[in-house]
Amino acid sequence: MTPSPNRILPHSVSDTSYGFRRCCQAIRDAVPIEELARRYARRYTNLEPLGGRAWFTCRCPIPDHEDRTPSFYTYPPGRYHCYGCGRNGDVVDLEFFCGDYGELWEAMISLAVEYDVELPKRPESWYRGRERQRPVRDAINRARFDHLRRRLFRYFFEPSLLRIEDPDEREAEAKLLWDVTAPLAQMMLERLRGESS
Ligand SMILES: [Zn+2]
Repeated sequence: MTPSPNRILPHSVSDTSYGFRRCCQAIRDAVPIEELARRYARRYTNLEPLGGRAWFTCRCPIPDHEDRTPSFYTYPPGRYHCYGCGRNGDVVDLEFFCGDYGELWEAMISLAVEYDVELPKRPESWYRGRERQRPVRDAINRARFDHLRRRLFRYFFEPSLLRIEDPDEREAEAKLLWDVTAPLAQMMLERLRGESS
């Protein structure tokens, strides 16, 4: 059985954190696994109901698994399992495997943006308790911030920019959109920060 991304990836600060788990729960509550499976499976096949209303099957949508027969199942509560490649998990894991991500938290944020999911905030007292760890945390957050901005830009803005033919106009629009990524990335990271409470 293939381990989940939690075990494959080096444990980064946020991946095991209470905040991260709460954010993942918010995503699971908001994004049905069938919806995501349907989106990724569309390249190959349809998602078909299987017996009971809550079960569905299709060919595995995970890119590195060339599934010739439907081996991929979704089932309540919001889980998937592929009998071909052995992967299983929730909607965040599925996004991680199907998208182009380096870390699990990126997949989580991407879903939050795409499905407009309000991520849970931390209580004020938690931020006060974290003050003494500020320098290290700031460095990590800075790297994440830059990374997330580039990612948001690439995924959500670049496609529309490429359609602008005039180079000056494109550059002006790119500057504008790049500025938009800053508050967006800031807001998302504020809700993600930290390790265990
Ligand atoms: Zn598979």
